[in-house]
Amino acid sequence: MDADPSHTADNAGQLEGLLDRHGWRLKFPPALETRFRSHHDNDALRIFRSSLVYLALLYLVMAVTALTVMDWDSVGAWPFMFSGFALLIIAAWRVSYSQLIRQRYQQVVCGMAALVVLLAVINPMLEQDPEFRTLIHIGGVFAVVVVYLGLSLRLPYAMLAGWGGGLPPLYVAHSLGMPLDWVLIVPTYFGASVLCMVLGFRDERQRRRMFLQGELLREDRHRIATLAEELSRQALVDGLTGLANRRQFDQALRREWARALREEQPLALIFADIDYFKPYNDHFGHQEGDDCMRVLAGVFRQQARRATDLAARYGGEEFVLLLPGTGRGAAIQRAEELAEAVRACQLPHPRSQCAPVVTVSVGVVSAMPDSGTGEEELVRRADQALYQAKAAGRNRVQFAGQDPMASVRVPPI
Ligand code: GH3
Ligand code: MG
Ligand code: MG
Repeated sequence: MDADPSHTADNAGQLEGLLDRHGWRLKFPPALETRFRSHHDNDALRIFRSSLVYLALLYLVMAVTALTVMDWDSVGAWPFMFSGFALLIIAAWRVSYSQLIRQRYQQVVCGMAALVVLLAVINPMLEQDPEFRTLIHIGGVFAVVVVYLGLSLRLPYAMLAGWGGGLPPLYVAHSLGMPLDWVLIVPTYFGASVLCMVLGFRDERQRRRMFLQGELLREDRHRIATLAEELSRQALVDGLTGLANRRQFDQALRREWARALREEQPLALIFADIDYFKPYNDHFGHQEGDDCMRVLAGVFRQQARRATDLAARYGGEEFVLLLPGTGRGAAIQRAEELAEAVRACQLPHPRSQCAPVVTVSVGVVSAMPDSGTGEEELVRRADQALYQAKAAGRNRVQFAGQDPMASVRVPPI
C-alpha cells in the first residue's frame, strides 16, 4: 500500500484529467497504459472463450441456412471454405487455453481474426451461384462485426485484422483480373468495416473510461484507508510528546488489569509530575516548557522497556508508566531510575525550590488485581502517592501505602 497521500492525490488528479479528456486519442501515459492493457487482456480472454460458444452457434445457424438454400448441383468450393471456419473456431478454443494467448492476447487473436476475414473475403470469390454468393457476402458482414466488436481486440489490432485479412486477397484477385462483385463488396466488407471502426473506437473509449473510473475508485479507497489509519493513530497518540495519550493509556490499563487478574500477576503504575513547572513556564516561556516536556517524554519512552510496558502522557505535565508483571521492589527501583534519568538530563530550573534542575515527583503503586476492585483503584492510589511525594517536599519517589516520611528520598544534586 502506498503510504504517501500526496502521491495518491497526484494519481487521482492525473486520472481525473484523463477522464475529462476528449478527442481522438485513446492511449494513456505509459505506466497507466500498461496497467490498462493487462487489465483489459485479462478480461478479454474470459470474454473470448464465451464468445467462441456464441460464434459456434452462429456458425451452425449459418450452416443450416446455407444448406437449405444451396443448389447441390453447383456446389463449388463453398463446403471446404465453410469448413475452414469450423476448424478456426476449434483451433481458437484450443489456443484459448494456451500460455501464448495469456501472454499475447492481442497478437494471437489478431492473427486468427485476420484468417477469419481472409476466408470471408475469398469465400464468395469461389462461388458460382450469384444468389448464394450474395448470401456469403452477407455472412462476411458477420465476420467483420465479430472481429471488431466480439473479440475484445483493441482498435489497432481489430483494424489490422480487418483490413490486413481482407485487402490482400481483394488486391490479388483484382491484379489477376478475376471478376469481383464491387456492388456487394463495397457495402458489405467496406461498409461494415468503416461502421465497425467507428463503433470499435467508441467501445474502446468507453472501456478506457470505465478503467479510469475503476482506478479512481481504487485511489479513493486507498486514500480513505490511509486517512483512517492516520486518524486512528492520532486518536491514540499525544500530539506534543508523541507518547501514548490518555485514551490509549486507559485502554491499556483496562486490558492489562484484566490480564493480570487472569494470570495472577502484579501490575505496577508509576505517576510522575514535573516539579514547579508553572514557574518554569513563567521563567522560560511556554515554548521552552514544551521543549522540556518533549525531553522528559524521551526519558519515559526509554523506560518502557518491555513490549507490554507503556509510557503515556496522562495530562498537563503529568506522565505515567504502566508496568505489567512488576512487583513492589522492581517498581520502586524503576521509579527511582526514572527520577534519576530526569535529573540526569540537567535541564536548568532556576525557579525550582527543590533542585537547580528540572525534577519530577513520583507516585508508585504495585498490586495484585482482585475481582473486588477495579483498575481505577490503582490509579487513585498512585495519584495519592504522587500527592504525598509533593507534600513531602517533591523530587522524590513515594510508594503507595508507605509512610510518606519514609518515602524514598532522592539525594539533592
Ligand atoms: P507542582 O510542583 O506542584 O507540580 O507545581 P507545578 O507548577 O508543576 O504545578 P501546577 O499544577 O501549578 O502547574 C502545572 C503547569 O504545567 C501549569 C501549566 O502551564 C503547565 N503545563 C501543563 N501542560 C503544559 C504543556 O503542554 N506545555 C507547557 N509548556 N506547559 C504545560
Ligand atoms: Mg507539576
Ligand atoms: Mg500537575
